[in-house]
Amino acid sequence: MKEIDWSNIPFGYMPTDFNVRCHYRDGKWGEIEATNSDTINLHMAATCLHYGQEAFEGLKAFRGKDGKVRIFRLEENAKRLQSSCDGILMAKLPVEKFVEAVKKVVKLNERFIPPYESGSSLYIRPLLIGTGAQVGVSPSKEYLFLIFVTPVGPYFKGGFKTSPVVILRQYDRAAPLGTGIYKVGGNYAASLVAGEKAHEMGYAAVLYLDAKEKKYIDECGPANFFGIKNNTYITPESTSILPSITNNSLITLAEDMGLKIERRQIPEDELSTLEEAGQCGTAAVISPISKIDDLDENKSYVIAKDGKPGPVCTKLYHKLRAIQYGDEPDKFGWITIVE
Ligand SMILES: *Cc1c(COP(=O)(O)O)cnc(C)c1O
Repeated sequence: MKEIDWSNIPFGYMPTDFNVRCHYRDGKWGEIEATNSDTINLHMAATCLHYGQEAFEGLKAFRGKDGKVRIFRLEENAKRLQSSCDGILMAKLPVEKFVEAVKKVVKLNERFIPPYESGSSLYIRPLLIGTGAQVGVSPSKEYLFLIFVTPVGPYFKGGFKTSPVVILRQYDRAAPLGTGIYKVGGNYAASLVAGEKAHEMGYAAVLYLDAKEKKYIDECGPANFFGIKNNTYITPESTSILPSITNNSLITLAEDMGLKIERRQIPEDELSTLEEAGQCGTAAVISPISKIDDLDENKSYVIAKDGKPGPVCTKLYHKLRAIQYGDEPDKFGWITIVE
């Protein structure tokens, strides 16, 4: 294998040795199979192509200083995939099958797990799709679950830093009683136009408001939102945001550090009172927010007055990463070690 510069790999697709697959046919899930083909053979009338029967997950494996490989919150991802399956009427994959498949694909691609020193990790992408041919709108009778892995570089190349986000009132990502709470591709398709617009204007992401009243903070494209003030961690309560496992973990850590936790609606006006704010998700853990511009209303909320990540974001970020890499004890039972 060509030498890989582990510290400088992008967040992109790099081919690895194997992916694993499992089919649902005749009302049951089959065995997990490994393959080195990176294409799938699909019927042109498959429901995933026409009616969006597609859900995915995203998690990571980390190599520790001790050489051990740690997967972060494996079972939580398995359960969230089940919830997504229920949400768009797909066959539900048993948690044990998910766990077995992730362990297998990580093990088979062990040589692609970046070394500890690089700050890189192995990104794990499970995918579940409706494969049955169907012309009328109804759920498929057949499904394919697959997982590929790809090494990804450190999110912050030049060190932990802030970035600006933007509120674009002409766009919604998800409806209050829609599919925003499920990790399905359709939500991403719905966010592409706004996301591109934000990027062209130099923003890291779109910060969505609730679709009904356009009054409360919802989430940041592919990441949850949180704010810090008065020793309190505040994150939106909403029926249209994806329950981020990173956000959940940060809440546990914040509580453990003595912060108060509030899960509630956050009116946009309250942004001016935040001492810190961040986007959170598997990719970056925390991406601290420098400022939030509401372009249509001509408002700007400067969160990081000096442009730097605040003390609480910084502490939470390092703490979570330390647990993921095994530098600190796994006191909450979040880690699965791959033997
Ligand atoms: C995946 C995802 C997140 C982050 O979830 P994590 O489990 O923390 O990676 C947040 N919002 C959306 C819309 C997502 O799809």
